[in-house]
Amino acid sequence: MLKEIDYQQILEGIYQDIKVYSTEGKQADYIPALARVNPEQFGMCLRLTNGREFTVEDADTRFSIQSISKVFALAMAMSLKGESIWERVGKEPSGTAFNSLVQLEFEKGFPRNPFINAGAIVIADVLMSELTDAGTTFLDFVRDISGNKTITYDREVARSEREYGFLNAAIANLLKSHGRIVNDLEEVLAFYFRMCSVTMSCRDLARAFLAFTNVEPFNYCGFPLTSSQIKRLNAVMQTCGFYDEAGEFSYLVGLPGKSGVGGGIAAVCPGRYAVAVWSPRLNPKGNSVMGMKALELLTTRTEESIF
Ligand code: GLU
Repeated sequence: MLKEIDYQQILEGIYQDIKVYSTEGKQADYIPALARVNPEQFGMCLRLTNGREFTVEDADTRFSIQSISKVFALAMAMSLKGESIWERVGKEPSGTAFNSLVQLEFEKGFPRNPFINAGAIVIADVLMSELTDAGTTFLDFVRDISGNKTITYDREVARSEREYGFLNAAIANLLKSHGRIVNDLEEVLAFYFRMCSVTMSCRDLARAFLAFTNVEPFNYCGFPLTSSQIKRLNAVMQTCGFYDEAGEFSYLVGLPGKSGVGGGIAAVCPGRYAVAVWSPRLNPKGNSVMGMKALELLTTRTEESIF
């Protein structure tokens, strides 16, 4: 029996209370397609495990999910490879920036976790080895798990990521030099950038992340995950999902989740709800300012978090 909580009222109250932060932070501008987004936007969608859904403001506006895509890629790779996936990538928080080269060099090209760029590029390589058309299958999976067949890649963002992706190319080269990438480097990078370019709304993301609330095992598009695997995926989100701010996010919000530099954050309260929030202005660590505030207030006011 679900507790009686007026989620709609809570979401509306949160929006009112976080408006004061609407000019704080700066949107990602490393590619023109993200720099052009109107930063004065905010959307939020919460979906309960019983199927009820609550939204506020721009919950249906699509945005670039960027690194949130790394969760979908990991789910597919865990489904395909089981525990052996951890021979290719670690599961420890990095404590460094998501695109840092220093740690990667020091640790001989073995990425700390699948949510930093190096780890996600290795996961992209795994998917390419296992699937005949990884690009199409990835999109099919995302469409299936979110129940929205219209979700697609943003070609301009993908092209732009590639054009300006010098650091990611350096990471991929370092990985390759240590024998951590099997497939053609350019093709792996192109697939990685395409995954980052997927556009979804908060409603799409809340629906997709409901699968990770671990109410039951799932099988989307022929990629099954057991409850035990979903639990482990949540553990990685909890410890590694927020760049170099996973500890702060755990402390303030207390939910497993993943953020992206497009300003989106998707999180789950296992057994209870999935929530997605989006606002483009980021704090210095790369997490959405209003997004983090909104989730902090959500778990405080509902008294629902994993702690
Ligand atoms: N496309 C971005 C990059 O690889 C992803 C950034 C992110 O959302 O963390 O630099």
